[in-house]
Amino acid sequence: MFDKILIANRGEIALRILRACKEMGIATVAVHSLVDRNLKHVRLADESVCIGPNPSPQSYLNVPAIISAMEITDAVAVHPGYGFLAENADFAEQVQKSGFTFIGPSADVIRLMGDKVSAIAAMKKAGVPTVPGSDGSLPDNSEGCLEIARKIGYPVIIKAASGGGGRGMRVVEHEADLINAIAVTKSEAQAAFGDGTVYMEKFLQNPRHVEIQVMSDGQGNAVHLGDRDCSLQRRHQKVLEEAPAPGIPDAVRRRVQEACVQACIDIGYRGAGTFEFLYEDQHFYFIEMNTRIQVEHPVTEMVTGIDLIKEQIRVCAGEKLSLQQADIAIRGHSFECRINAEDPRTFFPSPGTVNNFHMPGGFGVRVDSHLYSGYSVPPNYDSMIAKVITHGEDRDTALARMRVALSELVVDGIKTNIPLQEELVRDEAFAKGGVNIHYLEKKLGL
Ligand code: ADP
Repeated sequence: MFDKILIANRGEIALRILRACKEMGIATVAVHSLVDRNLKHVRLADESVCIGPNPSPQSYLNVPAIISAMEITDAVAVHPGYGFLAENADFAEQVQKSGFTFIGPSADVIRLMGDKVSAIAAMKKAGVPTVPGSDGSLPDNSEGCLEIARKIGYPVIIKAASGGGGRGMRVVEHEADLINAIAVTKSEAQAAFGDGTVYMEKFLQNPRHVEIQVMSDGQGNAVHLGDRDCSLQRRHQKVLEEAPAPGIPDAVRRRVQEACVQACIDIGYRGAGTFEFLYEDQHFYFIEMNTRIQVEHPVTEMVTGIDLIKEQIRVCAGEKLSLQQADIAIRGHSFECRINAEDPRTFFPSPGTVNNFHMPGGFGVRVDSHLYSGYSVPPNYDSMIAKVITHGEDRDTALARMRVALSELVVDGIKTNIPLQEELVRDEAFAKGGVNIHYLEKKLGL
């Protein structure tokens, strides 16, 4: 096992990783920007290193500074969390070349899954269901593109192979618009991602977002840890998640989960990962894989009782996967509300000092947050300040528990989206389960 891990992240996930390391008896190094010197995990870590000024390119994305911090502290591995460098293959490669371990898959696997065209090809090979589409990048001639779209049927969506964060996509309703849309998406993708490769998929009109959590050791062993429904989104940002995804027939669920496990084995996947799907009319359609731990991992931990960060660290330290599929059972239901420092009506970030922070508690309630009274939320980073997670023996119990938990939560001094979350957990359609990815934006009148 690793003696010392450097945590290359900030906020709640850095604290989450720190706690797992401490439980495992692993020494910790926190790295931080100037403004982040008062972060909770920085105070709790065994050592800390300031790696640069506040803008993330100069600190949390500053690869030479992070590698130097590993060298001077004798850290042997780096946990990237999510965001920042978590899915950066060049970083993973640099870490390895410097003689350290990247807690995640190999650089090659990150690259394979980071390019959506090669990811889809790998998934098809493993038997993972994908969206009907162009089977690779679009041809250069118009007639070929028109032919593919005719076969798929309109509407179609043109997507950049290197796209991310909901960018680099364009929906086409009519044949007359196709060729122009491809040209525009190509040039935008070239400008934004340095890669103009685009592909085409059928545009699914009212899907849900359902994802499968996996853990794999890169030595031929892999398991899935069930699924999550993350359909409540605004501008492709998840707002409220749950596990398991409600109302999916067991046979349909089982088939896709088994295919994901097979895919992990096929590609030699190491670590925690998520296969993201659109789900419509009892069919799963793979859209991408996230090769890292995700924000919403706690709902899976609550229903499986398995610490995903600890397992991730173990398999990345070279241990064989200790979990067996037969031992993993889904117990009850879990919800997670993301609490953001933002105006609940305009969604503008609302940084500032938190005068008073009071966490909810009680049976089946968990709060992952780096906040404390007197902490100042800086304007420089993501606005998420807490995750309120509940677990219950069934969906209704977990949801009722979330209503109580949110009513106890106090974040004074800044604006937050707590009012929006309070409304969502009382929403009738959401309470029934199975709303689609457009539901939240429609409800908000967007
Ligand atoms: P990104 O890497 O930018 O997140 P994804 O491929 O995951 O890109 O797609 C982001 C979102 O775009 C999906 O969650 C979904 O809302 C929408 N989307 C992508 N592909 C399709 C499709 N074929 N049909 C309908 N919506 C889609």
